[in-house]
Amino acid sequence: SPRLSAIAAVTGYKTNTPAMDFSETPMQDLFCANVFSKKVMQERLPKPVYKSLVKTIESGEKLDPTVADAVASAMKDWALSKGATHYAHVFYPLTGATAEKHDSFLSPDGEGGSIAEFSGSQLIQGEPDGSSFPTGGIRQTFEARGYTIWDVTSPAYILENPNGTTLCIPTAFVSWTGEALDKKTPVLRSMQALNKQAQRILKLFGHDDGAFVASTAGPEQEYFLIDRHFYFARPDLVNAGRTLFGAKPPKGQEFDDHYFGAIPERVLAFMLESERELFKLGIPVKTRHNEVAPGQYEIAPMFESANLATDHQQLLMTTLKRLAEKHGMTCLMHEKPFAGVNGSGKHVNWSLGSRSQGNLLDPGDTPHENAQFLVFCAAVIRAVYKYQGLLRAVVATASNDHRLGANEAPPAIMSVFLGDQLTDVFEQIKAGGANSSIAKGTLTVGVDVLPPLPKDAGDRNRTSPFAFTGNRFEFRAVGSNQSIAGPLVAMNTIIAESVDYCATQLEAATDGTPESLHSAIQVLLTEIMNECSSVVFNGDGYSDAWHTEAAKLGLLNMKSTPDALPYLQTPEVAELFQKYGVLSGRELESRLETYLEQYCMSINVEAKLTYNMAKTMIFPAAIRYQNELAATCTNLKMLGYDFDTDTLDEMTSLVKQLQDNVTLLQKKMDDAVGGGLIEHAKHCGEVVLPAMNAVREVADELEGIVADDIWPLPKYQEMLFIK
Ligand code: ADP
Ligand code: MG
Repeated sequence: SPRLSAIAAVTGYKTNTPAMDFSETPMQDLFCANVFSKKVMQERLPKPVYKSLVKTIESGEKLDPTVADAVASAMKDWALSKGATHYAHVFYPLTGATAEKHDSFLSPDGEGGSIAEFSGSQLIQGEPDGSSFPTGGIRQTFEARGYTIWDVTSPAYILENPNGTTLCIPTAFVSWTGEALDKKTPVLRSMQALNKQAQRILKLFGHDDGAFVASTAGPEQEYFLIDRHFYFARPDLVNAGRTLFGAKPPKGQEFDDHYFGAIPERVLAFMLESERELFKLGIPVKTRHNEVAPGQYEIAPMFESANLATDHQQLLMTTLKRLAEKHGMTCLMHEKPFAGVNGSGKHVNWSLGSRSQGNLLDPGDTPHENAQFLVFCAAVIRAVYKYQGLLRAVVATASNDHRLGANEAPPAIMSVFLGDQLTDVFEQIKAGGANSSIAKGTLTVGVDVLPPLPKDAGDRNRTSPFAFTGNRFEFRAVGSNQSIAGPLVAMNTIIAESVDYCATQLEAATDGTPESLHSAIQVLLTEIMNECSSVVFNGDGYSDAWHTEAAKLGLLNMKSTPDALPYLQTPEVAELFQKYGVLSGRELESRLETYLEQYCMSINVEAKLTYNMAKTMIFPAAIRYQNELAATCTNLKMLGYDFDTDTLDEMTSLVKQLQDNVTLLQKKMDDAVGGGLIEHAKHCGEVVLPAMNAVREVADELEGIVADDIWPLPKYQEMLFIK
């Protein structure tokens, strides 16, 4: 059986990747080795060009197009020196994947030779044939023109391949009418919006140096590794990224013996090589460890500016996948590859800060600094409260639905964890009311210094979807397979709106003196906490009690993607994105449409796979075994033995159920569904998915009965434990 030969191949695995000599090139020499970094630019660009470019990168100033030719020429020379033959505009379509269009540097010179060419206009703009990327109705195929536009703020890099290297240029992807067809453009726009509003608060505090306030992101990526032989013996993994069948293994994760345990040698070899590659690309990976589930791991880079972190995150995912293959494994990024075993998330750590002011979510040492911290922190709380629905919608995918709300990941209810001390601070401010006198048990903004807030893992709450962790917020509901762009766009924009609100209130109420500012802040914070504190929750987010309580508090609880995505249609979301110039009405609609389509497609593919695998793999195995049992019974009877036919009866009944459930699934798949995409999505989630689960239930039961040597699919314990 394919399963048994897979096991044989796995246990006979011998590495074919030569050992690496780490002393040859030390890690610090590798960092950014393949990046057209500031250092390289400084070396290779004329001084004024370099200066102008850095201004654009660091302060968000408009790019001076006249520098493009000089930059392109330097970039080309640098790339050729690294052996590059091609350049590629890299862009990020709404599928969440990374797309590239490669062009050769070489042009024929008309004399039978060729010259390497790369002009400023080729650097700035490209025109990929992107007609088959989803655009949610923005672009018809007949007007397929889409442009890629150089993003100066994300450095170009070299991607190595044993057979040649490519210069990669991160770009935004827009339609010929200027609408964003990608995930990057809104990130850049939302960062601009946040900067603009944050400057107003900083100005009130006397910090008007204008240094760009960037949102920062540090994404922690969880993933599974399994041997490639198992992967290819499972059509469900190959086509859907998750197992659609598979009984729970006798030994799961209950021993917690994998968590932070020693990393297996083969996995470590993979990690070491990946980290080396990522370092060359300037991705500052920092931590690695085993995760809770067997076969599950985590990698986290140091935080960077949100846009760069987003591009790096995409690059990290493709690098891990590529190198896992090299080490004979497959890297599974799906949120729930194995039912009954913990799934994978991507915790997105978020903050905002500038070069001159540092991290704005770092509580300060003086009352004045604290006041500023409290304003930004309250703005975040208000944003989560007001736009819970949006935060839920941007993590809504078919695959993440299997994780959210299961007892391993945050619930679908959005709440903020502040920790006891900070909660106490805000409670005191709330109790202090509008007057700024020091009442008992209240804290006065601008007078009291906050107690130092714990930054260690002690004061952590792993069940909260949105947790303050000492100097940043951690959005934990993001799925492991997702681009972090969507969640970052949502966070940046809702917080920009909140900061705008705070700035407007404070500007109106202050006369410019610190006293008037502080009393205005006191009033503002009290008001915000009175309105929004129901979203603050420090308890166990997995508990039923919280679900009941949250419902009483009126917090949203959108359980599935078809519930959550339509929230993008609400007027408040459209207004929000329009007001801050992040997404036009049409751009927003196109995203809703694309994501609903993706949801339906995912479920449809899974349903077809379930049907096919049940029919062509599981049913045949079942009847083979049934036949064996029947033959045994017949023989025994002929010999005159008296016995029960329990197992045969059970098999026969399960085989019948399997057939019935498969037929039912087929029917549900063929149901004519009226209405629009939302109705289709609902049908997928509420009718097709349960029908798939019903097939799986019977199949998983059969897995526990059918003779082991006949069972065709690698079993959970094999995939998770044999490496
Ligand atoms: P844990 O698993 O305890 O949450 P990790 O060390 O795995 O912690 O990940 C923490 C992440 O938070 C890292 O990526 C780190 O760079 C990031 N981070 C730290 N400070 C900030 C900040 N100011 N803004 C955004 N991310 C940050
Ligand atoms: Mg974390």
